[in-house]
Amino acid sequence: MGKLDGKTAVITGGTTGIGLATARLFLSEGATLAVTGRHDDTLKEARKSLGKAALVIKSDAGSLDDIGRLVADVTAQFKSVDILFINAGIGKFAPIEAVDEALYDEVMSVNLKGPFFTMQKMLPVMNDGGSIILNASALASTGMATASVYSATKAGLRSFSRTIAAETAPRRIRVNTISPGPISTPIYNKMGLPKEALDQMAKGIAEGVPLKRFGSPEEVAKAVLFLASDDSTYTTGSEIFVDGGFGQI
Ligand code: NAP
Repeated sequence: MGKLDGKTAVITGGTTGIGLATARLFLSEGATLAVTGRHDDTLKEARKSLGKAALVIKSDAGSLDDIGRLVADVTAQFKSVDILFINAGIGKFAPIEAVDEALYDEVMSVNLKGPFFTMQKMLPVMNDGGSIILNASALASTGMATASVYSATKAGLRSFSRTIAAETAPRRIRVNTISPGPISTPIYNKMGLPKEALDQMAKGIAEGVPLKRFGSPEEVAKAVLFLASDDSTYTTGSEIFVDGGFGQI
């Protein structure tokens, strides 16, 4: 028997990295699943890798129109939703003097505005007793140079999870945050750095982690499963770090 038998789940940004690993785990635990992504190539790869069991939907996480269409598509297929994993996010890093309005608006839009309105629009079609999980970051609790805008979006998610958990408690809908440390995913390749600089950055990051390595997307997915399933029915407004000690020690 799977931990998510009979449950419907939506994962934003489920085409690569942590979202894809979580999609695979949710499917193996019996969930009926929809995942979103933005780029045609990764959407196609995800369709191949997840198979017919998952609905793979093109939807820009920062667009209110797309979020509205996503809710309509998911409701048409599943009628209602039990689990919402808000995972889509982008990493753009620059020192304060190099941050322009375009970078600021893009990161805020995908990482903070989109998650808020996804929750707002999904809540009416969520079942009582459901679970929302927000993918934040250990960087929300630390001060890493160049991460000001990104880290602020993640701290905002942590705050949303507390407040919205208070608002959804009467419906027994739990809202929790997962905060990964450095995890090996394609997010780093999307930063536009040459391979040598990327390798050097990865080495420096791993050195700063007490466990001296990057985590895997699967290690994060296991904690998301805990928050999504009935194993965590008394946990809400809370935060789980999967960070090798990065933000703790
Ligand atoms: P990833 O492999 O780049 O995955 C990001 C996912 O989000 C992809 O499916 C991507 O789809 C999707 N996405 C990005 N922008 C989108 C948009 N505007 N609309 C729809 N989908 C969008 O990176 P990841 O590391 O797994 O990141 C997942 C989450 O974990 C992010 O929120 C990230 O901030 C967080 N996180 C990651 C780390 C880490 O070290 N990797 C650490 C802490 C927190 P496309 O490919 O189509 O863009």
